Amino acid sequence: MSVSLRAKLVFIMVLLIILLMTVVLVFLTRGVSDFYTDEFYRRMEAVFSDRDMTDALREAAGEPDAVDRMREILDVYAGLLGIDIGTRNYYILDGGTGAFLAGSDPEAARAPAATRNVLRALTGETAFGSGGSREYMDVAVPIIAADGRARFVVYIYDNRQTARNQSAEIFRLIIEAVAVGFVISAAISLILSKALLQPIQGITKAAEAMAGGDFSREISVESNDEIGTLARTFNMMASQIESTLEELKKAERLRREFVANVSHELRTPLTGIRTYAETLAENADIPEETAGEFLRVILNESDRMANIVRDLLELSRFDAGSAELKSEEFSIERSIRDVYTAIALDARKRGHEMNIGMERELPTVRGDRARIEQVFMNVLTNAVKYTPAGGRVDITGGVSGDSVWVRVSDTGIGIPPEDMLRVFDRFYRVDKARTRESGGTGLGLSIAREIIARHGGKIDIDSSPGVGTSVTISLPISGKTRGGAV
Ligand code: ADP
Repeated sequence: MSVSLRAKLVFIMVLLIILLMTVVLVFLTRGVSDFYTDEFYRRMEAVFSDRDMTDALREAAGEPDAVDRMREILDVYAGLLGIDIGTRNYYILDGGTGAFLAGSDPEAARAPAATRNVLRALTGETAFGSGGSREYMDVAVPIIAADGRARFVVYIYDNRQTARNQSAEIFRLIIEAVAVGFVISAAISLILSKALLQPIQGITKAAEAMAGGDFSREISVESNDEIGTLARTFNMMASQIESTLEELKKAERLRREFVANVSHELRTPLTGIRTYAETLAENADIPEETAGEFLRVILNESDRMANIVRDLLELSRFDAGSAELKSEEFSIERSIRDVYTAIALDARKRGHEMNIGMERELPTVRGDRARIEQVFMNVLTNAVKYTPAGGRVDITGGVSGDSVWVRVSDTGIGIPPEDMLRVFDRFYRVDKARTRESGGTGLGLSIAREIIARHGGKIDIDSSPGVGTSVTISLPISGKTRGGAV
């Protein structure tokens, strides 16, 4: 059987109230009874230690109408003794036999049998002992006439009815209080449990919605307590899962795009190769010059395919984290100058003006020299490629904080702002037809970014269409790298 949290809460509250009331009840009734007993004995001691009274009694005991005289005296002290006839009475007993002689109790028959205190008083002892009885309280005081002949016992007996009545009254009150407390605690715990459980129900609903794939449901957090924390944590978890899912979906979309791109990029040169090869195979009478042209196209296209496959392999190695990077200390300035020299001829052929100048001597960096040069080569080739004939390419370098930077600026066609973020995407090319012509695969910058990132550096592009582009590569200066990832 499953009991709802709410029922449990109500049950606990009610149980607590009942327990509390029971404890109060026990203590109160005990307290009342003890108080009553103490009060009785205190009062008896006070009255019987009053010499005036005991002397008067003793004197009266010597008189012939001793019993009547003693009655008169005791009646005078009845108020002090708390004699109320109903529950507390005095009795005058025979000092020798303990027989009842007189008393305040109109029904003499109700006179108590010889109690322990009476028996003790008969031996001449003043008996105040409570005797451990819960049924009654009594004191017995022997009164002996001055001449020693007459002997009586003055006996006060309380049947405890008052204490019992009071306890019963308290009991009744407590039971009433329990009943009221029961109703109030049930009502309060119902309201309280509702307030407590509402957010939990909210969380349950949201969790159910999540199970159904809906992450949009936000739980309103109204408190700062544990439930509030739970709700907040839940919201955080939901948004985390949602964003992870989004990322996964995005990754999946990119993967599909990538596969589609790869297929497309490989099919295009393949189609070319096939068309030219077929033409050559089917037409034996093609002029040698044309055939040579066709063969060059075939070679170019297969080179392209080889390049794409090489770049893809490189990227997949980076993705898998299995790309081995060498770690050597080298002069970055030497590297950029080497790449500059290698490309200068091509730039000149296109009528570009090329300059290289550093702000200062560049410090060395630690990393894979060949790969860094590959990055420079890609960036410089792009600058030369995407700048119309007669443009200008400047290479500068410097130090900024812990990093050394190299910047390649051109006066080329630039990159439209909407494409800026995407040029690092795999296969992304601003102008597909044109870049294909220039032999680009659209993978160069993706690989460059991977290489630079693996060296703990970064690559930034700044460009305005029709004005030019500048690509800045920063790398940590060797000895200042953290973690030694390379
Ligand atoms: P690609 O092999 O096609 O050059 P990259 O990844 O190196 O591939 O570059 C991606 C695209 O970014 C290029 O196709 C080109 O459109 C653009 N791009 C890169 N560098 C420049 C530049 N210096 N000027 C203008 N466009 C550039």
